[in-house]
Amino acid sequence: MARLVVVGGGVLGSMHAWMAVEAGHDVVHLEREAGARGASVRNFGLVWVSGRARGAELELAVRARELWERVAGRIPAIGFRANGSITVITRDDELAVISEVCARADAVDRGLRLLDGDEVTAMNPALRGLALAGLYASRDAAVEPRLVPAAVRDSLAGTGRYRFLPGREVVDVQDSGGVRVTDATGDVWDADRAVLCTGAWHAGVAGRWLADAPLRRVRLHMMQTAPLGETLTTSVADADSLRYYPAYEGPALRRLAPPDPAGAAWGMQLLMVQRLDGGLTIGDTHLYTEPFGFDLEEEPYRLLTRRVEHLLGRPLPAVQRRWTGVYSQLAPAAAGTADHDRLGNTAGMGESTAGTDRGLGIYLHREVLPGVHLVTGPGGRGMTLAPVIAERTLVAAGLLDSAPTS
Ligand SMILES: Cc1cc2nc3c(=O)[nH]c(=O)nc-3n(C[C@H](O)[C@H](O)[C@H](O)COP(=O)(O)OP(=O)(O)OC[C@H]3O[C@@H](n4cnc5c(N)ncnc54)[C@H](O)[C@@H]3O)c2cc1C
Repeated sequence: MARLVVVGGGVLGSMHAWMAVEAGHDVVHLEREAGARGASVRNFGLVWVSGRARGAELELAVRARELWERVAGRIPAIGFRANGSITVITRDDELAVISEVCARADAVDRGLRLLDGDEVTAMNPALRGLALAGLYASRDAAVEPRLVPAAVRDSLAGTGRYRFLPGREVVDVQDSGGVRVTDATGDVWDADRAVLCTGAWHAGVAGRWLADAPLRRVRLHMMQTAPLGETLTTSVADADSLRYYPAYEGPALRRLAPPDPAGAAWGMQLLMVQRLDGGLTIGDTHLYTEPFGFDLEEEPYRLLTRRVEHLLGRPLPAVQRRWTGVYSQLAPAAAGTADHDRLGNTAGMGESTAGTDRGLGIYLHREVLPGVHLVTGPGGRGMTLAPVIAERTLVAAGLLDSAPTS
């Protein structure tokens, strides 16, 4: 049994804590806020396998999907459901993209199937707008993001090997022979290993190790409605999402007509998932230029509402809340520009770095001091990948022999 300090109460920190306790270790979990407040509780809760890049990213997503089911078996309160998704297609050039994707060999791994317009409505009767076709993805799933971190903590509370301490901002981490973590109250935590999952805050205690990291931050607009009054049987995306997920790259995508300029100015795609109470979580935008605004701009909400009403063929229920969120993303960089540090990690991205990059160019994982692992930058796939990222970190840290199969 090892002593592990996990810093950060988001989904990454929570999953590292859960897997470590499951593996028999003793965990102290420190969070600067009262609970998770970052991207992990602001997201859609989409476990999104369908759009992942072929190769390592898809393999990680498939493994993550298995792990989410395993976590759900132990913690039903996370609200996991294997509801699949439909990307709704309204034009011929979009249909060409999904036809190309469905004809590829890896369509089976992604659980993809082409639907005609009638099949879209038969599968998800709430989509009574004018769908020409749909891309059904059976392996996509959903969880309840606002419930996951607390549900995971609650499940660990009775183990006797887990302590969650909110209101503890970690201010220092040192190599002390073991690992020494100091929080802002002055308390010192000695351990064998530490994992820093500090999210999109690229300064603070992790800042000194992130100064040269190719990370960027992305701001998204989100909203949630009152209950729809009917079931949305699958999660839903619009065809602009084809532009954001690497799986759809190919000749047909390059022939796709340019996006609507008003939406494009906000980096907009439509994603929609029904919450367990029947409300709809709807988003999003992709804004990259910092400093981010602090206003909650109305324009993206107006555009998103129009798109949803078009797909549903009915007015949207009243909006109950709006928010923005920021995630940390390992930025695309040229292959071969990897920056190898003394512990053999690399901060670069691309095929040529895959052998030494602990995050496979998909997220950032650096062993910043002996036994201290810094994990961030999974971008818009962090909710999806959190369990598999945790599993991989624990294996790298010597806290898990290899990926367990059940
Ligand atoms: C609007 C939005 C929608 C998204 N939708 C999806 C989706 O549907 N599917 C998907 O796969 N991904 C999605 N993502 C991405 C996903 O949410 C993130 O990648 C993921 O939540 C990152 O988790 P995290 O634990 O690293 O970060 P966070 O949730 O930000 O957690 C980091 C935590 O660390 C704490 N912390 C920071 N510094 C310290 C310190 N010094 N001491 C103590 N605590 C500290 C913070 O307070 C915070 O609670 C979305 C992101 C956003 C913003």
